[in-house]
Amino acid sequence: MESPIEGYLARIHREISELKDGKPYSTIPAMANVNPDNFGICLTTVDGYVYEIGDTREEFSIQSISKPFTYGLALADLGLDKVDEKVDVEPSGDSFNEISLAEGTGRPANAMINAGALTATSLIKASGGITRIKRIVNTYSAFAGRELSIDEEIFASELEHGHRNRALAYLLRSFNIIENDPVPVIEDYFRQCSVLVNCLDLSLMAATLANSGRNPMTGKQVMEILPVERVLSVMTTCGMYDDAGSWISTVGMPAKSGVGGGTISVLPGQVGLAVYSPPLDEHGSSVRGIATSQRLSQDMELHFVRAA
Ligand code: GLN
Repeated sequence: MESPIEGYLARIHREISELKDGKPYSTIPAMANVNPDNFGICLTTVDGYVYEIGDTREEFSIQSISKPFTYGLALADLGLDKVDEKVDVEPSGDSFNEISLAEGTGRPANAMINAGALTATSLIKASGGITRIKRIVNTYSAFAGRELSIDEEIFASELEHGHRNRALAYLLRSFNIIENDPVPVIEDYFRQCSVLVNCLDLSLMAATLANSGRNPMTGKQVMEILPVERVLSVMTTCGMYDDAGSWISTVGMPAKSGVGGGTISVLPGQVGLAVYSPPLDEHGSSVRGIATSQRLSQDMELHFVRAA
């Protein structure tokens, strides 16, 4: 028999399916012909209960939801101070691909916009015979609790069309924010954006953040609390880019969106929420992702002020 929460999620899913606004991301041709009706919702609690409805096993590219996890790995590798020298923690109020660099130093405003994310990727080094990108994908996999992989077609498409990200990386190199050859950094950034996930994976990644870095399914401590705390702080102020203020007012949880159609929200100590729906609003965030997160936050009292 259906549990009350499953019945509730089915109702929300049905209602929000009526919302037809937005368009899937089209800058990357390999992503343009996704089915816009794909729609999944998945909630995972810190004690490992999963509630899901809709297309929760459909795979799509993680895109910018990769950013907090790579930032976390950089923080875990280098410590907060070293990373802070390269990337600030201030909301830029700009869109995700804006050139939000500090005057004089070129330091990106935060690690959730592309400039800061490229910088975070550059800070990850190969270690113990494991390449940078392998370490990055291993980190996402540990958060998701299964081995994730890169979609080579999306990666090839990003490589061909990601001119703005190339320009950003070269600009960062000119300021010595990126200290090494920008080309492999750009490539690894495109690879990390092309990692395939489903809605269940994302909810587990969010739940692992909610659970202070311990994956609720595998029981593994995949990241220490200090980087997790910092990642969640920056997700709170910057995760939704120039929509962050409205998001925190209406949803009230640290979050991250990606142009693949994924949205994650984290209620620390309680739950990770993931929504998958490709049509995007003008900020590059999923229209149904936002509507669903707002609705669940209200109905389940997930806003951090109420949940406290
Ligand atoms: N790959 C995209 C980019 O770098 C990711 C952007 C996003 O998801 N907001 O432009």
